[in-house]
Amino acid sequence: MKRWFLLAFLFLLPASCPAAEDLFEIKPVADGVYSAIAKPTHRVNSNAAIIFLGDSVMVVDANSTPSAARGLIEQIKKLTPRPVKYVVNTHFHWDHTQGNEAYTNAWPAGVEIISSEATRANMERLGIPRWKRELAAMPQEVEQLKSDLQRATSADQKDSIRKTLAEAEAYFAELKNIQITMPTMTVDSRLILHRDSRTVEILWLGRAHTDGDLFVFLPKEKVLATGDALHGWTPTMRDSYPYDWIQTLDTAEKLDFEYVIGGHGEVMHGKQKFELWKQYFRDLLESTTAAYVEGATMEEAKKHVSEFLTAKYADKFDHFSQNVAGDVAKAYQVINPSR
Ligand SMILES: [Zn+2]
Repeated sequence: MKRWFLLAFLFLLPASCPAAEDLFEIKPVADGVYSAIAKPTHRVNSNAAIIFLGDSVMVVDANSTPSAARGLIEQIKKLTPRPVKYVVNTHFHWDHTQGNEAYTNAWPAGVEIISSEATRANMERLGIPRWKRELAAMPQEVEQLKSDLQRATSADQKDSIRKTLAEAEAYFAELKNIQITMPTMTVDSRLILHRDSRTVEILWLGRAHTDGDLFVFLPKEKVLATGDALHGWTPTMRDSYPYDWIQTLDTAEKLDFEYVIGGHGEVMHGKQKFELWKQYFRDLLESTTAAYVEGATMEEAKKHVSEFLTAKYADKFDHFSQNVAGDVAKAYQVINPSR
């Protein structure tokens, strides 16, 4: 009887929906403050920070898909019966905002989605067109994976492509149905939540990874959430303002914190990573400027400056060599916008 009961219970578990534990590792950072570290997936997912506010919960960043955010919501429900009342979008990129709808669906009575004014505008001007473009490009990506699968010879290759194909198809199915959910509350430069249990400062400190990056600072607990203005991987610079970024990190670094929850990678301790990122941006800008002054084309600069930066930084960042030529191109464009 007992065995029958157990089997029946197993069949009742949803088979297709990945368990929340598969997507995030939840780690306590301070009392009532958790990091949700995204586990590796084919299409990148972002981390989140979970902050208890007494009667409610704040989540920093809304992940790459509604299903990822729903997975996190299930994890949050295991930690507390309190509702999520505030979601902060640190910037407009898809992997930090596409899960917004999961929160408003889970708590229709009231979730405020908070961003900077620039991030809200960027979602409209850049985020939505990029989403539509990705939607249009996905069928081709899926077809390519299918033909790669047919051509694959080894069992290992086939397994790996099959896994990627399944993820791509699931992502495409979700992307088609995403309800773009815009921030409901925008911050100019500072919004402070005063609660009995803690104070939360939501800060815009200058242009950085985008023109709208928000930082979330807990002064008492000495925790700072940084989105993609600083994280455990390699910086991504496509929409960035590299000179401003150095100054913004200088300003953020002056805050009194011990733990940093970034948009990607593990929780960071202290301020070491701030120094590394600033030095990297300085070297990138100085070397690219020098190459430009000497008459180098963008292609020449990409080659020579990448070699120098790779020698100096490859062992200090994850996945460094894949990004560095793009960073040099970005720096070259900053110096010479007509290119
Ligand atoms: Zn990101």
